[in-house]
Amino acid sequence: MANPLYDTLFAPLAVRRTVLMQLPDGREITGAAFHDRIAQAARGLQAAGVRPGDRVAVQISKSPEALAIYAATVSIGAVFLPLNTAYTPEEIGYFLGNAGPALFLCDPGRAAAMAGVATAHGVVIETLDGAGAGSFADRMAAQPTRFAPVDRAPGDLAAILYTSGTTGRSKGAMLSHDNLLSNAQVLADLWRFTERDVLLHALPIFHTHGLFVASNVSLLTGGQMIFLPGFDLEQVLAALPRATAMMGVPTFYTRLLDDVRFSRDLVAHMRLFVSGSAPLLAETHVAFEARTGHRILERYGMTETNMNTSNPYEGERRAGTVGFPLPGVELRIMGKGAPVAPGEVGGIEVRGPNVFSGYWQMPEKTAEELRADGWFITGDLGRIDSDGYVQIVGRAKDLVITGGFNVYPIEVEMALDDQPGVLESAVIGLPHPDFGEAVFAVLVAKTGAILEPATVLAGLRERLAKFKQPKAAVVLEALPRNAMGKVQKAELRKTYAGWFQG
Ligand code: AMP
Repeated sequence: MANPLYDTLFAPLAVRRTVLMQLPDGREITGAAFHDRIAQAARGLQAAGVRPGDRVAVQISKSPEALAIYAATVSIGAVFLPLNTAYTPEEIGYFLGNAGPALFLCDPGRAAAMAGVATAHGVVIETLDGAGAGSFADRMAAQPTRFAPVDRAPGDLAAILYTSGTTGRSKGAMLSHDNLLSNAQVLADLWRFTERDVLLHALPIFHTHGLFVASNVSLLTGGQMIFLPGFDLEQVLAALPRATAMMGVPTFYTRLLDDVRFSRDLVAHMRLFVSGSAPLLAETHVAFEARTGHRILERYGMTETNMNTSNPYEGERRAGTVGFPLPGVELRIMGKGAPVAPGEVGGIEVRGPNVFSGYWQMPEKTAEELRADGWFITGDLGRIDSDGYVQIVGRAKDLVITGGFNVYPIEVEMALDDQPGVLESAVIGLPHPDFGEAVFAVLVAKTGAILEPATVLAGLRERLAKFKQPKAAVVLEALPRNAMGKVQKAELRKTYAGWFQG
């Protein structure tokens, strides 16, 4: 027997004398030193009572120790459950109640605030901060640097990642060793990662992008990571000269483009920029190429499925698309009960070794979204163009149905973004007494521009059918976004719910 994730990603570190992680303060951690931390974390978890199959919930700052705890958890056969550092005690209470973890790790500064919900669910708290201090750090320091991994089958659970829960409560996606490993192998291969790569890692590690796509691909291929606590423009600009590859959400790229120091020279040596987790505007793609000479490689994935599609490494990386299904992943576009005609918009479904096995303790939700024959209903709308590139049109629940007509927000957003003075926009449907729903636009002005909603909307008259034109618009300083750069449309719908009502 064996432990698939340990054997493949972490065991090789034990004998690796070269650097695995570069930290912003100049410290470097070798593979072997990181393996020591994994061993100490593994022993520490076991000493805290964690047994195979138990969940380990963590809400901790990004640090090498935090990544070691992920590695340790899966290596001792337990299930890693990372939580967004922004969640409040009340939200944490929901996750502790739903997942029933054996242990909850949080920042020492929040332990007192979390004590109530932890006690209510009978969960033991330990602490760890971003500098690697806390009760669990003390526990780790007292442990030996050797441990015995626990056997796991490929289908055994490795992690539960909760969905961001923009509609209703978050659901815990159950991911197996094989789900994670098979996806890392495919991506490493497709994106040509080797031990010569130095990955600039500025993503959070409570989400599939930073935890699995970035960390697992780098660990699998034996490269280095420049491990930054978050996206800090100065730190990223300082680190880029040492990196060969970077993975980011679209806001990383727009923020870099906003700074004149982000130049062709600075990144001439880079091999690859990957974007995902939210739509990369075609405009950003084009501006990035004009500035740097690099074409960002956009891919598409989600908590439940890991990655599903990617633009090609060699070949055309097409702006506004997420490329082709990954090797081994099937993707289809469904209408009512059957695939749509080629080129038509429909619901995206995927099937493959990357797809999760269901939602933790929610059999009804699982049955609604995961078909018996393995197809997962992603909830995204998309189409496949005549060259086979997949295009995401938006979330099914964001589709606006006004007077019986379907309006895809992205089409309206693209038209709005082209209007003078508009930096970006979000289009939503709001309850309307005549139309059922009415199209509504939220606009953000470019620096220095003053936007008049009526003028912007007038600019769409020649461009879009009348039913697609927003019936009203507001101007905001910025769009509400979550940590992964996704626009929070549910929040906008709530804020403006009464706009057209009497
Ligand atoms: P999450 O589970 O938080 O990773 O969110 C997954 C969702 O993010 C997907 O279902 C898509 O709606 C969206 N998403 C991820 N990557 C892309 C992309 N490249 N373009 C557009 N939407 C994306």
